[in-house]
Formats: sequence, C-alpha cells, structure tokens
Amino acid sequence: MAKILVIGAGPAGCTAAYRLQQRGHIVQVLEAATVPGGRTYTLEKDGFLIDTAAIFTMSTYHRTWALLRELALESRLQPWHAHTQLVEGDRRFSLRYDQPLSNLLLPCVSLADKFKIIKAGIAALLEPSLNAFNGDDLASIDNGENLEDWARCTLGNTAYEYVVKPNHDMLYALPPCLLSPAFQRATMQAAWGFSLAVPSSGMGTLCRALSEQLDLYVNHPVTQIEYRRHQGVSVHCAGQNADFQGDALIVATDAHSAATLLQGQVDDSLIDTLSQTPYIEYAQTTMTYTQDPWPDETNSMLVPVGKNFHPVNALVLHSKRNPASVPKGAQSLGFYYNSQALTGSSDAELIDLARRYRDRLLGAVAVAPDFEQVFRYKRGLTVPAPGHYRNMTTVSSRLPPRLALAGDYFAHAGIEAAVIAGERAANEVAKCF
Ligand SMILES: Cc1cc2nc3c(=O)[nH]c(=O)nc-3n(C[C@H](O)[C@H](O)[C@H](O)COP(=O)(O)OP(=O)(O)OC[C@H]3O[C@@H](n4cnc5c(N)ncnc54)[C@H](O)[C@@H]3O)c2cc1C
Repeated sequence: MAKILVIGAGPAGCTAAYRLQQRGHIVQVLEAATVPGGRTYTLEKDGFLIDTAAIFTMSTYHRTWALLRELALESRLQPWHAHTQLVEGDRRFSLRYDQPLSNLLLPCVSLADKFKIIKAGIAALLEPSLNAFNGDDLASIDNGENLEDWARCTLGNTAYEYVVKPNHDMLYALPPCLLSPAFQRATMQAAWGFSLAVPSSGMGTLCRALSEQLDLYVNHPVTQIEYRRHQGVSVHCAGQNADFQGDALIVATDAHSAATLLQGQVDDSLIDTLSQTPYIEYAQTTMTYTQDPWPDETNSMLVPVGKNFHPVNALVLHSKRNPASVPKGAQSLGFYYNSQALTGSSDAELIDLARRYRDRLLGAVAVAPDFEQVFRYKRGLTVPAPGHYRNMTTVSSRLPPRLALAGDYFAHAGIEAAVIAGERAANEVAKCF
C-alpha cells in the first residue's frame, strides 16, 4: 500500500484518485477551487442547476458511464433528444444533434456530398476500431492534415459548411482549419448507434459523487512540487502554508499548470511540450427566467451557420436539454461563444452579444432574465492542432516512475478523455507498488 497525492479534482483527478483508493492505496486530493468538478462544475442557484461549462455526455463515453454505473448513478443519465435548428439568415434547417445520421436529411447538403458522407462512413467502419477518446488511437491517424482540408476533400464543401463546421464550432469553438481531423474520423465509426445523455442532477454529478468518497482538500492550490526519484514526493500549498508527502504523484491539472509545477523536476523537453500545448479561452453566458418566455419553442439548440463569422456558436435551451435543471415552467438559456469573440471582450460585451443572438434566434420579448452571468474558462479547451495527439503520446511515455499526468488534453477535450487519462495514470502509478 502506498500514499499517493493527486493534484486537481476535475474528472481526471477524481477518477485517478478513486481507482487508486479502490486498489487499497491511501490517496489525498488537493484542489485549488472551493469545490470539486473543474470544468464540469454545476452551480445551484434559485432552484436552477447551472452547468457552468460541460453540458452533455455521449453514448461513446464508455468509461464515464461505467463509473456512473459503479456509483449507482446511471439512472440519473437522461437522454438528450437534441432537436436542433441550423439558422442561416431567414432559412432554418432541422436536425437531431444526438443523431449524426440526421445530417443526411439536410436540404442544404448536396446529394453528391451525402453520398460522400455515406462512403466515408462505410470506409471508417472498415478501418481498425478506434477509440475517439484515447490519445494513442488518435495519434495513430494524426498525420499532419487539418480538419477543413480533410473534410472538404473527403466529404465535400456543403458537408463541410453545414455538418462538420457547425459540429466543431460547438465542440471546439475554433475554425476547423486549426484542428486535426483525427477526432472526426474516429467518431464516424460510432455514428450509427450514437446518442447523448445528461445527468439530471447536473454535469457535476460524477465529480461530486467521486469526491464524497475521497480525502479531498479544497481551496488548496498546489504551488510547488518536489519529486525525488527514489524517495517519494512532496507538494506545497503556499496559501495554506501546508505540505503533503507521498510515495507517488498524479498531476491532473491543465497542461500549462502541470508544466509550471513540474519545472525543474522532469526533463526540459517535456516541460516545453506541455507549456506549448495550445489552449483557447472558452465561455458561455447563462440567462435564467422563472417563467419561460418561449414556451412554444420545440428545439433545444439553435446554431447559426453560413459563411459569415458567428461570435455565438450555439444557443441551448436547458429546460429541453435537462428538464430537471430548471424549476417548473422556467427556462435557462446558454450561449456558447466562438473563442475568437472572447479575445478582448468584457463580460458586459459578451452579455450584449448573447442578448442580440437571443432576440435574433428566439424572438425578442419584453421580459428581462432574472439572472445573467458569463462563465469564463481561461484554459477552456485544448486545441488539438495537427500533431497534438502525437506530442501527448510522447509526453506520457517519457515520465519518470511514480509520477503521472492526467487530463483531457491527452485526447479530445472532453470528460471521457479526462476519465480515460485518469484511469491510465492510476494504472501507471499502481504498477510501481
Ligand atoms: C464551456 C465548456 C463546455 C464544455 N462542454 C463539454 C461537454 O458538453 N461535454 C464534455 O465532455 N466536455 C465538455 N467540456 C470539456 C470538459 O469540461 C473537460 O474535458 C473536463 O472537465 C476535463 O477534465 P480535467 O479533469 O482534465 O480538467 P478540469 O475539469 O479542468 O479539472 C482540473 C482541476 O485541476 C484544478 N487545478 C488546476 N491547477 C491546480 C493547482 N495548482 N492545485 C490544485 N488544483 C489545481 C482545477 O481547479 C480543476 O478543478 C467543456 C468545457 C468548457 C470550458
């Protein structure tokens, strides 16, 4: 039995700590914020459950769903039938965001491109099976190409404009020309049986449940690490003036914080790769209404499309995404911004943008929201640029013994990637004892 320290109580850190504790190790988790959850934190306010960042899980989140099952929380997962409208000026096209095949019914996608999508889908099914949330699998097809070039060439221009771009605007908030196509290619294999689900008690459910079983120290930002190759590790939390000693360490923060903490403790080239991992700021504005001003709206998501730049990528009606997240008869709107719109914009400007998009997409009403807040995440999402997955595979293979990293930056920036990275880090560390 060893004593293991874990830094960070997001999905990656909580998963790693829980798995190690299950194996009989003593684990202490140090978290900078006052609550666990990281970018899956759910804020409870006036009867609303406000998911401050992440809003859904996919049926392909096998490890996340397995954890929820183990914690007897699977029944909380409610399907999200994501009725969606793509909005281009006065034209509106309906699809199901939770049913990728519904894209084939879009009238704005040419017939020729629909055939190309089907052809590419069949080709993907014939390829070796890939896990879209496993960094190694993504690295194996991360050949330096970018997503826009790949999609225009393989699927066609209308498929790019109306299927790939809106999808990735929502997932990454960045132009596809900056991204590797690896995630898109790997997810095509799972398009047939795909669905979405949301824990009725909010996206923070997983970390809340895991952390209840852990020895968690919130409000403990780690400021210094000392890793000794043969004598364990110690970490220091300057604000609390507290030191923690352990036999091994898992750093489950974002890549840049990990680089800062590990400076001087591991090979400089690893620090360089971690600190150069590209991140974008990601933000959303939530507006809540105790009485829903749009009771007849049937869609749960409205997505502006077309060649013009859209500072707001998606408007989500949370009462439709997760009915339990709002009081009866209420509505909560979420506006998800393109990362380029965030640079240099104040919160007041972002709220102004959200109001304009609300009026344009849902229709203006005289009622003001009861609550409006911007939730900003400085390191919101990693940018899986071409070559990113290969870089991350190199990092994890070159860490010294009893030191592991975990975080969503090892694969697609999402909860499942974080959970898989957490389980992998736990395995790596457990092997040493
Ligand atoms: C707006 C937005 C929407 C998203 N939507 C989705 C979605 O719908 N579905 C999905 O799957 N994913 C979504 N994501 C991504 C998802 O939230 C992340 O993939 C996931 O939270 C990553 O987990 P993690 O544990 O790697 O990192 P985090 O959740 O960021 O957790 C890292 C933790 O480390 C802590 N920490 C950092 N530095 C220190 C330190 N020095 N000392 C102690 N603690 C420290 C942080 O406070 C944090 O709690 C979204 C993200 C954003 C920003």
